[in-house]
Amino acid sequence: PKDATDFADATPVMAQYLKTKQEHPDALLLFRMGDFYEIFFDDAVVASQALSLALTKRGVYQGKDIPLAGVPAHALDAYVSKLIRLGFRVAVCDQLEDPAEAKKRGSKSVVKRGVVRVVTPGTLTEDTLLEDRGANRLIALSSRGGVMAIASVELSTGDVECLEIEPETLSSHLSALRPSETLVADRLLQDEAVFGLLKQYGGVLQPQPSSLSDPSAGEQRLLYLYGVATLDGFGSFSASEMSALGMLAAYIDVTQAGKRPVLKPPAKVISHNHLAIDAATRNSLEIDRTQQGKREGSLIAALDMTVTSGGGRLLAARLARPLFQPDAINARLDTVAWLLPRRDARNDLRHLMRSLSDQVRALSRLSLNRGGPRDLTVIQNGLTVGETLAATLNDAAHDGIDPVLPAEIDSVITALIPSPPVAALRARLERALVEEPALSLKDGGFIRAGYSAELDEMRGLRDDSRQIVLNLEQRLAAETGIAIRIKFNNVLGYFIELSQKLAEQLVAQDTAKQFIHRQSLANQVRFVTTELVDLDSRIQRAAASALGLEMELFETLRDEVRSVAPQIQAAHDAICALDVACANACWAEEFDATRPVIDDTQRLEISRGRHPVVCAVLKSQGKPFTPNDVALDAEGAISARLSLVTGPNMAGKSTFLRQNALLIVMSQAGLFVPAKAMHLGVVDRLFSRVGAGDDLAQGRSTFMMEMVETAAILQQATTRSFVILDEIGRGTATYDGLAIAWACAEDLHDRIQCRALFATHYHEMAVLDKRLKALSNLSLQAREHNGELIFLHEVRAGSADRSYGVQVARLAGMPGGVVTRARDILTRLEEDNQTKLRLDDLPLFSHTRAPAPVSREHSKAETLLKSLNPDDLSPKEALEVIYNLHKLV
Ligand code: ADP
Repeated sequence: PKDATDFADATPVMAQYLKTKQEHPDALLLFRMGDFYEIFFDDAVVASQALSLALTKRGVYQGKDIPLAGVPAHALDAYVSKLIRLGFRVAVCDQLEDPAEAKKRGSKSVVKRGVVRVVTPGTLTEDTLLEDRGANRLIALSSRGGVMAIASVELSTGDVECLEIEPETLSSHLSALRPSETLVADRLLQDEAVFGLLKQYGGVLQPQPSSLSDPSAGEQRLLYLYGVATLDGFGSFSASEMSALGMLAAYIDVTQAGKRPVLKPPAKVISHNHLAIDAATRNSLEIDRTQQGKREGSLIAALDMTVTSGGGRLLAARLARPLFQPDAINARLDTVAWLLPRRDARNDLRHLMRSLSDQVRALSRLSLNRGGPRDLTVIQNGLTVGETLAATLNDAAHDGIDPVLPAEIDSVITALIPSPPVAALRARLERALVEEPALSLKDGGFIRAGYSAELDEMRGLRDDSRQIVLNLEQRLAAETGIAIRIKFNNVLGYFIELSQKLAEQLVAQDTAKQFIHRQSLANQVRFVTTELVDLDSRIQRAAASALGLEMELFETLRDEVRSVAPQIQAAHDAICALDVACANACWAEEFDATRPVIDDTQRLEISRGRHPVVCAVLKSQGKPFTPNDVALDAEGAISARLSLVTGPNMAGKSTFLRQNALLIVMSQAGLFVPAKAMHLGVVDRLFSRVGAGDDLAQGRSTFMMEMVETAAILQQATTRSFVILDEIGRGTATYDGLAIAWACAEDLHDRIQCRALFATHYHEMAVLDKRLKALSNLSLQAREHNGELIFLHEVRAGSADRSYGVQVARLAGMPGGVVTRARDILTRLEEDNQTKLRLDDLPLFSHTRAPAPVSREHSKAETLLKSLNPDDLSPKEALEVIYNLHKLV
């Protein structure tokens, strides 16, 4: 409808619809009418396609049929979830009163309706719409006075945080947070680099007008959201942080239609306290998902032995953003170390935690008026289990094994011992709620008998009345001598139902006209009496007031839960931390993991390290994994800082490189690692790049990507960083690739001076160790045995002697003739000294700067070649070019 202000042509309901739609133009509007959510006009056309609904019409507006689609109200969640996944915003408009109320106001009166929430990907709270172990974050990105800030909220758990970031680390932060939805000031979107990253990692983007990113308005919105008079208690926030937090607050207000969720105070994250991992590194290390986007096969899937969904989310958060300070890391490791020998206590704790449902998500739903009686049960159970957990920990603390209690265990116990109001709430919930309440609030019946005298009385009345109905039935039967049956349905209420024959008999003998005819069916006739009608309304009133009272009691309990929300959240967080530590202890036991030694040195020493994922996969196939050592030291006390890793394809170079990076991530996340021993001087930034060529399907731009990413490493890495470069330069011609790899290695060694592993199949590079002092050669060996190639997967000092490429080709099932021919060619090439590279003599690779290239005339052959685009040539044309070239020389 174009002229939306004047709905004169519309029916009253349609006018109400149009007005609501006008307020939510960019959302798909679901409009509750009775048992359905109806969708009109263009929305109907779009939704019918998206949800495969029948498209019909209802009524006319401005001379045209109104398109209509609808979904049954009880299936709302399923449809909303589908729409959200397809990228829609959905406004849910409900009936805000009983239609009977509207009727009382007059026959033309319209039921009051209003949008109760706007569902967006970042603001979901329903368990059915959320991933168990995944966070669902909404973030806001802002920039003020040249400082960028991110604020993030998880509505379903109440976690809020904000941080100032350096623009170059945006990809690291975005990929760590992995938001479902991002609010961003219009202005920032004009920055192409920012826009590119947001498009890739920001989830659904919601551009915000600059009016919404103003910091002082943001502060006001935050005060309202938290219901506080001052933010002083939360610490201080910069203008850019306030602006980002304010955008979140405004968005929550709109999407939750003014309802305020319980949120924790914004936690200030200090970037420098964390190990920075940029998006490409995260991707290549497959920390929380594989490069194919699956959880299975990722680091987290291999490690995750948590038993609660909150614990699963915390483990993911810790791996996404490992720590940097040795003290903080050691505090986490202390907890795991304390739990490791206490196997019985650990099993008890895990058994208890397994019985928990997601408390914070229940709390969040309750605070947004979306919760039901079952959410109260979840809270009650959480509090009860929490107390038992605290007691179990306490017992374990006094078992005499180790008198020193880790700080984390101590604070877990403190958080789980209920304060007096929490204990009172728990006791009340226990008294108030039945064992297994129904899911829906409207069904009632969730309050235990004996909790409220008033409720018991009303229920008594309701149930008594039922007895009275039975009595009446018997009395009428006795009086008339006819087997009278009283039945009930929603339309008639209570009524007497008789067969045709008995009905005639009844009417004939009813001289007092006591029985009033209500309805005749094919074989039955229905009657009422004044007494029955009376009784009917008494019963209905009692049932309604019992239900009404139950709602009131529910609301009181809900408010009480809300009033101790911070304690519930703290207890939940404690349980999550305990779960993660127990899980890591169990994992350490099963996979024979060890506690890394973490300090401020610049060492990386691992003895008998294993790749957590590859090792587990091989183990499940009954195959052994070969452990490997590494020793690097950027201060040069114990070893070189840069190791060049050579070896044939398939020898295990990538596995070795990644394994060391993953062990650093695990260590700094505060987890035990799969190794015999590990000593790590903390790393500030982690970089991993894999050369193009592994994924040819991605097309020609891969090499460019590889260069862009490698450039980023060389620009961002510090002496404290750890870098793995795997086959850099592979995506281009041999000499180019070798030259690039060579120069990168030199730059890492000479200028950046950080710890690094550099895998390459360019064996020529091995000579670098003669000139670069802090470079060492490592290699993965293979052996030929009876013509078979055997990979030992064992890292040794020194460079690889041969590349075994031809043997690998044979392994890969290359036809025998081709392999034999390749062997021939290889032998001849090797014999021909002319073709051996003497790289050390090339000016390009001598360590002094190469002289500026002297310009010269192009030869005719060069000119011809330059004019060609090889990709555009057909094989026949290519052959022709070769003939032409041949003619020129
Ligand atoms: P490269 O990078 O040298 O081509 P990869 O690291 O991709 O080799 O390893 C090839 C395969 O060898 C892996 O998929 C794995 O199955 C096996 N492998 C690698 N390292 C080991 C090891 N240390 N122990 C046992 N098997 C290994």
